[in-house]
Amino acid sequence: MRLVLVGPPGSGKGTQAERLVARFGLTAIGTGAMFRDAIDRGTDMGKTVGPLIKQGLLVPDPIVNEVVAELFRGPGRPERFVMDGYPRTYSQAVAFDALLRLEYLRLDAVVDLSIPDEEVVRRISGRRCCSNPACGVCFHVVARPPKVPGRCNACGGPLVLRDDDKEETIRRRLGEFHKNTDALLDYYRRQGLVRDVDATRSPDQIF
Ligand code: AMP
Repeated sequence: MRLVLVGPPGSGKGTQAERLVARFGLTAIGTGAMFRDAIDRGTDMGKTVGPLIKQGLLVPDPIVNEVVAELFRGPGRPERFVMDGYPRTYSQAVAFDALLRLEYLRLDAVVDLSIPDEEVVRRISGRRCCSNPACGVCFHVVARPPKVPGRCNACGGPLVLRDDDKEETIRRRLGEFHKNTDALLDYYRRQGLVRDVDATRSPDQIF
């Protein structure tokens, strides 16, 4: 199975990706998590993308495309995967198709997780993620509380509100999302790949 998850921040892409990994043994590819890791490690790329992410802006397509292409090159490339947060623009989708074609891989579906903006803001402001760069698992103060308040269930690391999860930043990220998503989904719809899912439902129902 090869899937792309499309949805605004807070639509549950990360949660569904985790479940797909657990159930079907897919490789989850989360570009946001890869960037956060590069920022934490202080790499050159981290230094370039850090300020953009903090402001809720998108990382330029050539950088994201190259990060993903590197994963698919070479013998360890993922065969069955779920993309969490990439492609996010029409031009990323075109680049990703070209990359998959070179690797003789085809997408099975693009899952469109749709949810109103106000619900996104409500959800994200309660989100707390593990600050341990090797972990990064996210919880929600109401919907998915950790067993011990403020501590990650997986590794015990301290849970924090990510800079890019602050309300003003969420609104900017939603703006970016809407600006890019119509063209992205049109592109995949023309290929008959899009499956629409109501992302206001519970994680179980969505799954
Ligand atoms: P996420 O964890 O998927 O919400 O991503 C966090 C941030 O990383 C986004 O707000 C963007 O700034 C950046 N990012 C992640 N994936 C992409 C992408 N495919 N294209 C551009 N920017 C991205």
